[in-house]
Parts: sequence; structure tokens; C-alpha cells
Amino acid sequence: MGKVEELLNSVDAIIWEWDVREKRYTFVSQQAERILGYPLSQWQTESEFWLVHLHPEDKERMVAFQERLLREKLEQASVDYRMVAADGRILWLRERVTVVVEDGKVTKLRGVTMDITEAKEAEERFFKAFHSSLTAMAIARQEDRKFVEVNDQFVALTGYSRDELIEQAPEKLQLWLPSPDRAEKEEQLRRQGEIREWEKRLKRKDGSVRDVLTSIVAIEIGGQPCLLFNLLDITERKQAEAILRDARNALEFQVRQRTSDMETFVYAVSHDLRAPLMALEGFAQALLEDYADRLNETGRDYCRRIINAARKMDQLINAVLDYGRLSYRELTVGAVSLERIVDDALQLLEAYLTQKDARVIVTRPLPEVVGHYALLVQIVVNLLTNAVKFTPPDRKPEVKVWAEKLEGIVRLWVEDNGIGIPVEHQERIFQPFTRLHPETAYPGVGIGLAIVKRGVERMNGKVGVLSEPSKGSRFWIELPASKNDPLPA
Ligand code: ADP
Repeated sequence: MGKVEELLNSVDAIIWEWDVREKRYTFVSQQAERILGYPLSQWQTESEFWLVHLHPEDKERMVAFQERLLREKLEQASVDYRMVAADGRILWLRERVTVVVEDGKVTKLRGVTMDITEAKEAEERFFKAFHSSLTAMAIARQEDRKFVEVNDQFVALTGYSRDELIEQAPEKLQLWLPSPDRAEKEEQLRRQGEIREWEKRLKRKDGSVRDVLTSIVAIEIGGQPCLLFNLLDITERKQAEAILRDARNALEFQVRQRTSDMETFVYAVSHDLRAPLMALEGFAQALLEDYADRLNETGRDYCRRIINAARKMDQLINAVLDYGRLSYRELTVGAVSLERIVDDALQLLEAYLTQKDARVIVTRPLPEVVGHYALLVQIVVNLLTNAVKFTPPDRKPEVKVWAEKLEGIVRLWVEDNGIGIPVEHQERIFQPFTRLHPETAYPGVGIGLAIVKRGVERMNGKVGVLSEPSKGSRFWIELPASKNDPLPA
């Protein structure tokens, strides 16, 4: 065997030469035997060997191909076809053929034939999946972007027929609405060979527009670089999202509107109520100052009472407003340190505590809770004020503050050595304007504990009290513990 022949035999393809006049192979490399199973001698002796063993369905096409080859004297041509192997298997072959022209006549054909059965089978499986896919799919050639294959879903999505899509120039179809990120995506396709979930807008044949989620992958089909499009129609989803978003915005607007309506209303009411009150107080004051000599002691006492009542009324209006605000104001909660809250409350009360000669003992450190900072300061101020206020005049107020960490919650205690509360009143005192004592004994309007209760409840907590008359009281508030609190439970 010569060197060249040895070389030809070692290539993983059938290399052959065919004599046009004699209609037989003059050379076939050894791979022919391995690939198709027929002995080499049969290739060269059997008349019309190639035609005989062609797959019946490909015969007509291949005869036409050969005729064209000879007629047009094509220098290079490529074709895929099937042959039946010696054992009956059907093999897919890809052939590249050259015509040999001598004295203006085609004398020989020479070619290289490869076994592409596996690739073809994979391709077939791919097309099966392609056509049964529930999403719209299409394949376009990379070089001219013309569709070479589309599935039924794609036809349905675009509204064009198969024929109107296949091999049509993209400029003519104008399927896509311009998208701002197009250049960026094309670049990504070039660099990474794929684009995932690109939101594009597709114009159907009837002019209607659909939102589609598009994935594009570079693939090779029959040796040709192509792009595989996978489209998901998300128009309805986008519409639902938009409706939901609008509804949410409308709701938020309503809440804000209502809150601001309430603020306006409350402001107007308090203003309208305050004006006559100020008149009452002002004229009573004027009587006391300018007409003192014409009033006897009883008259002057009446004037003082009018002034006090007006001031009290003012306090009550403020209390009602504070309490009301707690219900309609928006509250955003977050992690806050009780340590800081108690410290800030104590600072606000400094003058009062000094005046009452009160002692407050805080067991530190205090944990973090989930709540609203300013509201919590107000709550602690109210509890501390009561603890100091409801102590008999002959006793020095002593207040203890500490916290307990339980499963997911924190309980803050405020204990005093004051007058205590009879059991039957312990629930009542958290109602607005409930007081157990006359103003003269202990001043106040009876709103402090109501604010404590409603405030804590708005922060998803609870309140309570343990007490016995003359044995002091222990008030507690319970709040969700902050998850990132460093203190052990
Ligand atoms: P105010 O302090 O203005 O009276 P609160 O709502 O704070 O209003 O309290 C309601 C009532 O509960 C008080 O009038 C008092 O009778 C009782 N009270 C509250 N805290 C204590 C306390 N620490 N010791 C005894 N009684 C208390």
C-alpha cells in the first residue's frame, strides 16, 4: 500500500473516486467497510452500488442532485442523505463532492463522506422537543437572521403563518419593537453565546403588541450557525402586576389621604375648641386684674375657678388629641434599645424626679425590642410619672425598672412603693379618663395609662399591672424581642 493510500485509509471518513462513464467506484478508502459494513470489493464491482443502497426515500432527491452536479459542473457541493448499511441500519451521511473535468467533460467525481448519524439523531430529538414545546420557539440563521424553523406556538404568538415567517427578511417582518437595551444584548449574545430572559415587545401581524420574555441561544443546525429563540408571552402577567401595583398605590394614597384628613380635622377641632377657652381664661384673668376691687373674695374665687377649669379643659383637649392620634397615625417599628429609651425618659423627667426627691433604680443592661422609639419614650415617661406621682406625700418615691427576656418577647417592669391599686380597678385604669382619685389629691386627666395600653398594642404588645392597696404597684409592658439583640434570653 502506498503512503498516500495509507493516509487516506486512516481518515475517519470515506474517501472515494467514481468514474462517470463506467458508473463505478475506482477508489474507496477502508473506512467504507467499517462504516457501512459492505466489503470494499462489493463497492467496486456491484453495478450502481451507491444507488442500490440509498435509502428509498432519498433516491429521487439524490439522483436529481447528481444530475445537477454533472450538468452544472459544480466544483464543490455538499449534501446529507441516508444509506442502508449491510446490517439493515439506516445511516445519515454528509458528503462533500468535487467534479473532475477533463477536456470540458466531467469524467470523475471525488468525495469525502462522513457518518453523521449520531448528530442527525440528536438533531431529530431536538426538533421533536422543538415542535412539542409549550413555549413559542423559532430558529433563525445567524448570518441573515431569517427564520429557518418555527413551531406552532410561535405561529400562534406572532399571528403569521409558517410560510410568512420562514425565509423572510427580518426587516420585512418587523416583529420586534425597538428596545433600549438592544445593543447591549447583541454584545452579550456575541460574547456569551446566549441571552436569558430578555423582556421584549413583539408586534403581531394584526398590529397588537405582546410582552414576551425571550431567551436566545447560539446553536448549530446541520453545520450552520443559528439562533434558537424561546419566547414566553407575559402580557397577562404584566397586566396583572400593573393592576396590583395601581391598587396598592390607590390604597396607600387613600390611607395617606385619610390620615391627612384626620390631621386637618383634629387641628380644626382643637383650634375651634381652644378659641372660646382662651376667651374664658382671658376674660376671667382680666376680671381678676382690672376689677379686683369691685369683687369680693367669693367673686375672685369664682374667677380663679373659671381659669382653672379652662386650663383643665385645655389639658383634656390635648389628651384626647394625643390618644386619637395613636389610632390613625402610621407607625413604623424597628429594633430599639430599651436602654436608650429608659435613659431618654429619665432625662425628660429629671426636673420632676428632683422635685419629688424620687429615686429610680434601673437594672442594666436592658434588651432590644421591636417598637417605635418616640412612642416608647412616651410610654415609659407615663409609667415613671405615675410611679412617682401615686406615692403618699410622707413617703420618698422609690422606683425600680428592669426587664425580663422570655421566648421571643421582652417584658419591661416598672415597680413603685406607692399607694397601690385595688384589684377591682386594675383593668379599668387603662381606659381613657378613668381616675381613682380626686384632682386635688393627685393631679392628672386620666389619659396616661390609656396611651400606654393603646401604644403598646399598636406595637403588637401587651400591658398589665400587679398591685395591692398600700403595697405599691408593678406595671409591665410586653413587646416583641429584637432578633439581633445580643443579650442572652
Ligand atoms: P392620670 O395619671 O392622669 O390619672 P393615668 O391613665 O395615668 O391617668 O392613670 C389612671 C389612674 O390609674 C390614675 O388616676 C390612678 O388612679 C391609677 N394609677 C395609675 N398608675 C398608678 C400607680 N403607679 N399607682 C397607683 N395608682 C395608679
